[in-house]
Amino acid sequence: MARVYNFSAGPAMLPVEVLQEAADEMLDYQGSGMSVMEMSHRGKIFDGIIKEAEADLRDLLQIPDNYKVLFLQGGAWTQFAAVPMNLMKHGKAAYIVTGQWAKKAWQEAGKYGEAVKVASSEDKTFSYIPDCSDLDIPEDADYVYICENNTIYGTKFHTLPNTKGKDLVADVSSCFLSEPMDVSKYAVIYGGVQKNIGPAGVVIAIIREDLITDDVLEGTPTMLKWKTQADNDSLFNTPPAYGIYICGKVFKWLKKQGGLAAVKERNEKKAALLYDFLDQSRLFKGTVRKEDRSLMNVPFIIGDKELEALFVKEAEKAGLVSLKGHRSVGGMRASIYNAMPYEGVEALVAFMKEFEAAHPAE
Ligand SMILES: *Cc1c(COP(=O)(O)O)cnc(C)c1O
Repeated sequence: MARVYNFSAGPAMLPVEVLQEAADEMLDYQGSGMSVMEMSHRGKIFDGIIKEAEADLRDLLQIPDNYKVLFLQGGAWTQFAAVPMNLMKHGKAAYIVTGQWAKKAWQEAGKYGEAVKVASSEDKTFSYIPDCSDLDIPEDADYVYICENNTIYGTKFHTLPNTKGKDLVADVSSCFLSEPMDVSKYAVIYGGVQKNIGPAGVVIAIIREDLITDDVLEGTPTMLKWKTQADNDSLFNTPPAYGIYICGKVFKWLKKQGGLAAVKERNEKKAALLYDFLDQSRLFKGTVRKEDRSLMNVPFIIGDKELEALFVKEAEKAGLVSLKGHRSVGGMRASIYNAMPYEGVEALVAFMKEFEAAHPAE
């Protein structure tokens, strides 16, 4: 078996233990004589799988009882529309634009109401998180929106914005379950799971119950109305059953690691190894303002396109794959989600040191 260290931003690495377990259960899930992807989503076995997944997620994030957990489809993108459709009672919302994903969510919301951009970091290629302690948030805004971890640019909100009492909605796709969160500070938390939790095809939304109502924008599709999904415990239509099953296994794996506080500690150790190297490197340079750095996505550059291409190519030969940066930043990006072992980051840093030594300054 030749597993590589996969630094892709998503879909990304999953824990080997989880994949192995899924492989063992592929043909016969616990004596049922079938795979989870072959069984009825209305049957007793799947009912147990989805309920246990929800219970474990609630346990991990300490989700208060007045929040619903929904397992949805359509990627994070679909929620860019579902959020305004379900929440824009006054037709207005405040968006903090800290990257491509936040910008796309802001643009999508603009189709359904007035999406007011209250802050942005686009002036410096989204390389920092703007000061959000005293923003000009419209009196009648229905919510304030953030993308909490900016996958492409490698920034993260380490302090939540002051929403001036408005409900906070957060896209946490690329930092989901990477550290503990205080769910009660949010109205809605959602994320596609393919970055840090499971296979593409599942989106998890955690929504305060009072926001799940029939009072949605006219024309909201049945599937995008959160109440449809909440009333049916995420089983309104056929859910992404196999994906939910894998997510459930990852929740168990995270609990076995000691829960999210322990996971955060491991993620900090991993990130520090890479950032400390970047900070003293002659050749490589991080692109993000230090205090806004993400624990999950680490973009870095050399500043010489040919050398960067060579680095990515040689790294791949060494079993360190998907290090090419997003086209809007260039350079490289190492995504080091929960399932990336410490040894993977060690191997990356060792390879970077070698590459640096082989390419002394002209
Ligand atoms: C990847 C990503 C998305 C898009 O996710 P899809 O599931 O492909 O729609 C949205 N937001 C963030 C923060 C992401 O990292």
